[in-house]
Formats: sequence, C-alpha cells, structure tokens
Amino acid sequence: MTGIDTLPPLRDVIATHGLSARKSLGQNFLLDLNLTAKIARQAGDLSECDVLEIGPGPGGLTRGLLAEGARRVLAIEKDRRCIPALAEIAEHYKDRLQIIEGDALNIDPLAHLTPPIRIAANLPYNVGTELLVRWLTPKEWPPFWQTLTLMFQKEVAERIVAAPGSKAYGRLAILASWRAEAKIAIHLPPSAFTPSPKVSSAVVHIKALEKPRFEADAAVLERVVAAAFNQRRKMLRAALKGVAPDIEDRLIAAGIKPTERAEQIPLEGFCALARAVAQT
Ligand code: SAM
Repeated sequence: MTGIDTLPPLRDVIATHGLSARKSLGQNFLLDLNLTAKIARQAGDLSECDVLEIGPGPGGLTRGLLAEGARRVLAIEKDRRCIPALAEIAEHYKDRLQIIEGDALNIDPLAHLTPPIRIAANLPYNVGTELLVRWLTPKEWPPFWQTLTLMFQKEVAERIVAAPGSKAYGRLAILASWRAEAKIAIHLPPSAFTPSPKVSSAVVHIKALEKPRFEADAAVLERVVAAAFNQRRKMLRAALKGVAPDIEDRLIAAGIKPTERAEQIPLEGFCALARAVAQT
C-alpha cells in the first residue's frame, strides 16, 4: 500500500491552519510527501505494527507512515495549533490515527499501543536525544519497541553510529550498539526542511537486538561510560577515579590499560569493565 494520499498539499495545510513555524518548538517541517514516504519506508514493513510518532507537526511524516501501510499511528504533538490539521488526516485514514496533544517527555504512550511497536519521529534536537536515551535505557530488554527511525542533526547522527577511535565516539554510540544495531539511513540537506535550519540532518535507523551483545549490568555500564567520557581526554585511571577506589586493578582485570583513554575502548571493553566494577 504505497503512494501519496488525496489530502491537500502540506503548504496548503500550513496556510489553512496558520502553522507558522515556531523556533521555540524546534519546528522545521518536511513538506515533500515523497520524502516523508521514503523516511517511512526506512521503518520497514509497518502493516502489522503500531507506530509511535512524536512531534507530527502538520503531519508530513504521519501521512508517509499511513500511506506506507502502518496498521495504526499514535501521534503525540505539543503544539495545539497542529491538532485540527492532524484531525483531518485521522478523518481520511479512519481508525488508523490517534492524536494526543501534549509533551512527549511527560506522556506514557504504552497504554495506547498494541505490540509490535515501531517508533518514527522528526523531533527537535534536544527532545530527540533525551527520548533516544530513554528508549535505549529501559529496565527490561528487549524494549517495547522493535525499531526507531529518527531524524537528528547530522553531528548527533554521527555520534550514534560512531566507531571507537573517532571523535564522535561516546555514550550515545555505546548505548546504541550494546543492545541494538544503528545505521544512518538517509542524509538530508537543510533545504529539505521549511524553514531551512542551519545544519544538515540524517535519519538514523536503530533495530533492537534480542539481547545485549556482551553481558553487563545496565546501570553499572552507564555509570562507567558516563564517567569515562565526561573527562574523555584523561587517562581512564584518572577519569574513573570516582567509580571505584581500586579502579586500576579493575581496569587491568577487564584487560584495559589504565593509561588508555575512553575513546580507544570498544564496547566489549566497557562491558568487561562494567563486570569488573560490579564484582564485590
Ligand atoms: N514531524 C513534522 C515534520 O517532519 O514536518 C514536524 C517536525 S518539527 C522538527 C518537530 C515537531 O515536534 C513540531 O511539530 C513540534 O511542535 C513538536 N514538538 C516539539 N517538542 C515536542 C514535545 N516535547 N513533545 C511533542 N512534540 C513536540
């Protein structure tokens, strides 16, 4: 089930509903429905899935997800002005679009979703990163979602998929690779958005693995990684001093030279270190 719907073009929707973009809400809209359909396709076969969309705005990606055959979409939007425009989409796609007005950071969507669940969003940078970290760090794994298809500013996308030894490598790359598989699916120039932001963007696709690649306690791993990268230029024995008084011994037990820096340690090393730190 593909193709563009018969609803009005997004420029007309924006004019009709007076949706002038607000900087405070990070509003840079995607108006090309071919592009939003392409992004929706990155989320895979949606015909058996509920899709959680955060920040639908005037509904470009929402329409892409529905046109590409999503079983249902639950869309959470903070800007009240967008709700009537989204209601028109819900009317067109009977029983397949539910809209919630509110701040995605304060709403638990699970009561409104039936598994399997996939997530898709084009969100402001700060909200997107905060939600990504939440989605990557639940208490239980596998998480409630199968995949995340998310737009980020290019630099953030590069941090999510970064390899050890690179400047972009850090907490986001480790969280994304420990229990999931992340790749950049689409690069977008500023001109893809209205209004155009200053920076380029990229769609990142993240697939949850059934289980972590290496054993580690999630809370300990997060603590070790946060401390290591908070002072990324320091040697690990100094950066991790606060983690355990005998950190040098624990680094050695994990097979890591205490003089190395966080940037050089692959995921496997951080997991070994988390296990060594957790040992009493
Ligand atoms: N998805 C639309 C598109 O691609 O054209 C809009 C993208 S725009 C970058 C971000 C959207 O997220 C805006 O509609 C904005 O109002 C909404 N938004 C911002 N903060 C939000 C929050 N905390 N919760 C829910 N929506 C939010």
